[in-house]
Amino acid sequence: MVQKNLIDGEWIAGSEAFRNINPSDTNDVVGEYARASADDARAAIAAAKAAFPAWSRSGILERHAILRKTADEILARKDELGRLLSREEGKTLAEGIGETVRAGQIFDFFAGECLRLAGEVLPSARPNIGVEITREPVGVVGIITPWNFPIAIPAWKIAPALCYGNTVVFKPAELVPGSSWAIVDILHRAGLPKGVLNLVMGKGSVVGQAMLDSPDVHAITFTGSTGTGKRVALASVEHNRKYQLEMGGKNPFVVLDDADLGVAVEAAVNSAFFSTGQRCTASSRLIVTEGIHDRFVAAMGERMKGLTIDDALKAGTQIGPVVDQSQLNQDTDYIAIGKQEGAKLAFGGELLKRDTPGFYLQPALFTEATNAMRISREEIFGPVASVIRVRDYDEALAVANDTPFGLSSGIATTSLKHATHFKRNAEAGMVMVNLPTAGVDFHVPFGGRKGSSHGSREQGRYAAEFYTTVKTAYTLA
Ligand code: NDP
Repeated sequence: MVQKNLIDGEWIAGSEAFRNINPSDTNDVVGEYARASADDARAAIAAAKAAFPAWSRSGILERHAILRKTADEILARKDELGRLLSREEGKTLAEGIGETVRAGQIFDFFAGECLRLAGEVLPSARPNIGVEITREPVGVVGIITPWNFPIAIPAWKIAPALCYGNTVVFKPAELVPGSSWAIVDILHRAGLPKGVLNLVMGKGSVVGQAMLDSPDVHAITFTGSTGTGKRVALASVEHNRKYQLEMGGKNPFVVLDDADLGVAVEAAVNSAFFSTGQRCTASSRLIVTEGIHDRFVAAMGERMKGLTIDDALKAGTQIGPVVDQSQLNQDTDYIAIGKQEGAKLAFGGELLKRDTPGFYLQPALFTEATNAMRISREEIFGPVASVIRVRDYDEALAVANDTPFGLSSGIATTSLKHATHFKRNAEAGMVMVNLPTAGVDFHVPFGGRKGSSHGSREQGRYAAEFYTTVKTAYTLA
């Protein structure tokens, strides 16, 4: 059965369908999905525009109930939905279920936020005048998501958009439509009025572009690559619309001489290789001071030898496959580039054969890398990391900040002085002390600086900044 797009409350088949393939076993077709056209995208935008006046004035209890019901169903079906996610994206079952739980928690959080909407009442600077400051929804919000978090990223954009009274046109990455289809189906059955949430699965260059080109999309929230992010920005300036971008990272993880070696190695392996290194918060630059360098590299090699890379759904798998052939080619190209640049491939980097045909890659660790090499400057987005040797903390901090990106930044140290200094001086939106650079909470702000992000933060109460617009009203008493 072909899973359809949702436009104006109706499931629409479209003229074409595409297949969702399991990266752990390319013979396994996860499902077939209707491919939306540019006209479908325009119909979805028109439906969202028509639904906006009523939804923007809907009662908070109605919104609360729909988001709450959605959270409950996602959490009740976490094993099934987590399995679907791992089957289509390739992260391990534990990671797939964990991400699904997080999506449920996000809907639960924003169900609560509906009940906490508030404004401010202030005295005017002039006598006998009152001032009210309120937040209003922005309008039609376009949501464009990447393939690497197939349920969490859609959840952290859709939930606040609906909570604050916006209507939505949602385009998930074509590589992973299954999880997105599932949450739209849940929201639809939870009672959303027609046109409030529209799903258009299909190519970014067609469906996404139609969203960018429409004057009726009042805000776009985008997560994905830097290149596409720039297109979103340019088109949004053209239409004078609000936009929010979460893009790539080249996140540093600093290991100081005084670090607990066990803590440092666990955090580095998690940062660099879990979820197959396909996280925008993954660390691919391990910046290590001289005194611990050789012990750290030896311990990383030992730990990496013990990692189980296999079918994402198999019990015991710690690292699943790369998401598809083109991402695998990108990873192996960067491994070749690293060698040409003079870094030493100390461990891994080979293609692996498993029981089923899939995109299996042994995580790769380079040593003798410098921060000027392409493997240290460009986002690889796979299980490939480099060790950069530095003299001391000051050099480590300088190297950590010497990057066009600024999403997450980590340090392993037992020194309060260095931990405190690093938290203050790391040029990143998120800082981790003795923790992996990836792995964040659902109820606090998420986002970066420099080339990684643009606009206000996502998640938690800070999400209100993007999904609402502020009004200041004056009344003569
Ligand atoms: P892409 O930029 O290729 O795709 C992201 C989304 O944009 C997809 O839905 C894609 O559609 C769509 N898209 C592509 N072209 C256009 C267009 N012309 N107009 C509108 N939309 C378009 O990124 P990936 O999916 O390949 O994701 C990987 C990248 O995302 C990495 O660089 C990673 O760092 C970054 N990322 C950043 C995160 C963050 O929060 N900072 C989180 C997760 C990922 P389709 O693919 O269906 O064609």
